[in-house]
Amino acid sequence: MPPDLLSYEQAASLIAENARAISESRRPSIERIDLAAAPGRILATPLLADDDQPPFPRSTRDGYACRADELSAHVPLPIAGSTRAGQPPASPLPPSSAWEIMTGAPVPSGADCVVMLEHVEESGNTIQLSASRTIAQGDNIVSRGAQSRRGDQILSAGFALGPAQIALAASCGYSTVEVFRRPRVAILTTGDELVPVDATPGPGQIRNSNAPMLAALVARCGADPLILPTAADSPEALDAALAQAATADLLLISGGVSAGTHDLVEPALARRGAQFHFTGVKIQPGKPLVFGQIPQSAESQKQDKKHQGKTSVVPTSAHTDERASASRSNSIPFFGLPGNPISSAATFLLFAAPILAALSGSRETHPRFVLAQLARDTDRKAKPGLTRFLPALCTFNRSANALPQVATIPWHGSGDLTAFAQSNCFLVIPEDAAHLDAGSTVRILLH
Ligand code: AMP
Ligand code: MG
Repeated sequence: MPPDLLSYEQAASLIAENARAISESRRPSIERIDLAAAPGRILATPLLADDDQPPFPRSTRDGYACRADELSAHVPLPIAGSTRAGQPPASPLPPSSAWEIMTGAPVPSGADCVVMLEHVEESGNTIQLSASRTIAQGDNIVSRGAQSRRGDQILSAGFALGPAQIALAASCGYSTVEVFRRPRVAILTTGDELVPVDATPGPGQIRNSNAPMLAALVARCGADPLILPTAADSPEALDAALAQAATADLLLISGGVSAGTHDLVEPALARRGAQFHFTGVKIQPGKPLVFGQIPQSAESQKQDKKHQGKTSVVPTSAHTDERASASRSNSIPFFGLPGNPISSAATFLLFAAPILAALSGSRETHPRFVLAQLARDTDRKAKPGLTRFLPALCTFNRSANALPQVATIPWHGSGDLTAFAQSNCFLVIPEDAAHLDAGSTVRILLH
């Protein structure tokens, strides 16, 4: 077991390497779902254009379809016809004439430009280009097939399906789409002090808040959480729990990874043949984070096969399922998350979420750090070598030209759920930085 304590950057690049290896070697199985159920799912089979897009030369303006050289002479052109969106033009554009046209309507053949309504003088049944205006061939027309040609790949596998991708799929007639099966994430909370949410804690006990929090984080990543019974702090309880837990695609263990005498998770993982990638990161909160992989148990391999059998695999990818099981390595990545709730959440977002994204088949696996402006000076005692992630509140403003403002939330350490619930992001304090000035540009991770 390597006693490695990595810097944040070292741990982040090791995670990125592992995420890349997972993306390259494991292909989740595929299921077909209704487009209405697709938000947040990961596209498994590329989308193809069913027709040229646009399927006809489309006017992007209300105005007149013309020939640019005729209109440029600034002489009156008679209006020969009119086309609205949804209508095919009644005829080609006759010589030396104009054709009234609406946004989205097909441009009649023979026309090579559309002039905006506002750029012409109308008189009787004629229009004339305004003296101050010019026009060129192609103006205000999107030619047939400019966006894509019939059969073109318009979206590759690995894209998360959001509103834009769903609109594109709909425009090409996809009422169903093929997506990757959601990874199953086993959540194992450990600790003698934990009682269920609906129990009244006895002296010294606390409610298990990490299980629902981690389940929410997992669900928000588009994966399926599976909450296991809480394990007591004993080698026997942990051994039994880990045997059960090895049925998932990813295993999250909360608690029991610090240096205390009741922190028995690492030895239990070692007894199950775990390979450890790191056993600590120089971050605050979350320093005792453990990352590695354990062999899948025989019974879980059986279960996994059964589960894959249940997955609806579409006919076009008869060999996809085969490939999925062939490339499925028989090990499960795991994270031993420090039990304090804010530590668990921060380490999940920083390190587990990228691995989960890779297991989901997503092409986007890096944490989405964004820039913000620090609202107040932030003083911290410098802690050598520690990168810190402090609960903070990011406030968006109406201006498109200003960065969001961010301020830390006063907290009583990484167990302070009251403070955490007031926050919506983590403020990144770079290694060795003791003071950040108000107004400076800082990095945040929204949660
Ligand atoms: P540990 O990492 O097991 O040493 O736990 C660190 C702190 O987090 C202790 O104060 C625990 O009581 C608390 N903690 C551990 N697990 C949970 C949990 N599932 N829900 C809420 N707090 C927890
Ligand atoms: Mg504990």
